[in-house]
Amino acid sequence: MRVTEQGLTEVVSRLVRKANLQLPADVEVALRAAGKAESSPTGRMILDILLENARVSGQIGLPICQDTGIDVVFVEVGSGLSIEGDLSRGVNAGIADGTRRGFLRNSVCDPLTRQNTGDNTPAILHVASVPGDEMVISLLPKGCGSENMSALVMLSPSAGPEGVVRSVVDQVRMAGPNPCPPGVIGIGIGGTMEQAALLSKKALLRPLGTRNPRDDVADLEEKITEAINASGVGPLGLGGSVTTLGVAVEVYPCHIASLPVAINIQCHAARSGTARYRDGLWDVPETVLFSDGSDLVGHESVFTGQTRPIHELNLPLTVEAAARLRAGEWVFLNGPLYTARDRTHRAMVEMLERGERLPVDLAGQLIYYVGPSPAPAGMPVGAAGPTTSYRMDAYTPRMLAEGIRATMGKGRRSSSVRKALQACGAVYFATIGGAGAFLAQRISSCELAAFPEFGPEALYRMVVKDFPAVVIDDTLGNDYYEMVAGS
Ligand code: SF4
Repeated sequence: MRVTEQGLTEVVSRLVRKANLQLPADVEVALRAAGKAESSPTGRMILDILLENARVSGQIGLPICQDTGIDVVFVEVGSGLSIEGDLSRGVNAGIADGTRRGFLRNSVCDPLTRQNTGDNTPAILHVASVPGDEMVISLLPKGCGSENMSALVMLSPSAGPEGVVRSVVDQVRMAGPNPCPPGVIGIGIGGTMEQAALLSKKALLRPLGTRNPRDDVADLEEKITEAINASGVGPLGLGGSVTTLGVAVEVYPCHIASLPVAINIQCHAARSGTARYRDGLWDVPETVLFSDGSDLVGHESVFTGQTRPIHELNLPLTVEAAARLRAGEWVFLNGPLYTARDRTHRAMVEMLERGERLPVDLAGQLIYYVGPSPAPAGMPVGAAGPTTSYRMDAYTPRMLAEGIRATMGKGRRSSSVRKALQACGAVYFATIGGAGAFLAQRISSCELAAFPEFGPEALYRMVVKDFPAVVIDDTLGNDYYEMVAGS
């Protein structure tokens, strides 16, 4: 049996596009079950939106989430199989091809210069030799809102299973809204530092609803699931009874003096895809469940049933309108806003420090932290959900001093940002993390405004219509995440 480099490229390209447009069947089933189990009306509304997002993603051909991730690829190569060409080159060519043809975002950059590699390569590639003459490729596009919230702890053996449960729950609480809960928690216990981390990543590939074959490990999975769901973090960190869709633990023998525990947090956009080469043929299974979707509440109806009405709010926000908003209030935003994320913020603050004018007058404007995926033909924008806001914390007080009236993203802000918001009479909104396709339908135009050299991180001017957002930090200094956590 022989696999060709070109065959690998084609199959990886298909996997990349499929994984980003079709939520795996087990994740869809888990989201539907979560909607039934969730006690909070806001939590149920969010879960409805996430299902609706997954449905429209496949239907209109936009990625489920604008962060189409860094691609982690596990390859199992049968020892009886030969490869014609270079495996790594074939896989990376497939990543680049799938990213381009799928209108996915290039999210990979040099760690120091932050220069984008331009085609989402290189992949994180793990290759293992196994008996037989088959090949299995599993692809895990990993967004970094969740990856950045992952952790490794080297516990003392005396901590025992209780210590493992505590560490995982502490990490999930600390992560709060940032990794777009409810997600999947992959946990690697044992081995060494790097082995635990690898096990935790592999655990994310286990189908939801399955348990580790070892009874004691399966019990631990149950305990961790219950403890996480009792944390009250809830969907998108806005409170509720469902914080995880599933927990998978993998174990490996370790040193008598050691208890490594790696916690890999995955978001609700738990995308993956697997292909198998057998008897001379590649098989890329189809897993679409959204062929009908008639039981879903629908794009326009997901906001009904809220305990409080959702108000329309025009942009740019006036001083008075900002002052009237209160933490926890949901609004539909209408009008123009500007987008910026890490590199743009850094460039703008450096310009201000040099005494230069910004390329766009942002006084009174709302800055949306987003790096959209490329727009397919005929659409104004690709998937365009929020990125994690804390990464902009270092720059936000300076931008607020320039007259920014509102910012929007997802996740908590630092205390210095919250103080600066209050001092400047500005507010911070969160919108629906990971609902990139759903939110894109509420963006009527998107034009490049500055910094084209930053690619997906450029400054865009968008016009939004009925764009949902919740006030997290108001002008009185109230913080909705804190209010939810304390309730
Ligand atoms: S769902 Fe959230 S954490 Fe996951 S990739 Fe999208 S933005 Fe990142």
